[in-house]
Amino acid sequence: MRMTDQRRTIARIIEGASDHPDVEELYRRASAVDPRISLSTVYRTVNLFEEAGLVTKHDFKDGRARFELIPDEHHDHLIDIRTGKVIEFRNEEIEAIQEVIAKRLGYKLIDHRLELYAVPLDPKSAQK
Ligand SMILES: [Zn+2]
Repeated sequence: MRMTDQRRTIARIIEGASDHPDVEELYRRASAVDPRISLSTVYRTVNLFEEAGLVTKHDFKDGRARFELIPDEHHDHLIDIRTGKVIEFRNEEIEAIQEVIAKRLGYKLIDHRLELYAVPLDPKSAQK
């Protein structure tokens, strides 16, 4: 893939984001750095990055595709359905049991996605 200045800017923004931004948000951040970047460029670029295996796309059931750099170490996500906040976690018991389930079904697990949709136990303590 040819790395143009605009693509490099978009790549840097995805790399620096910890909040799983959607295309509109990436566009907002990218155009603040380089006003020549258009929304359609951001769309095309994230799709190219996804095809190239650089970023992964998430659907957290809020109607917008969200993007993150493919992490070095696998993690899963908890989504606060009230605020849309995404929390990353990793749990070794879950990782292990998924392998056991796949094995029992006659498969070797190669990948998985786990999304927990949740509301805060104590709504007053919910952070945005
Ligand atoms: Zn993540």
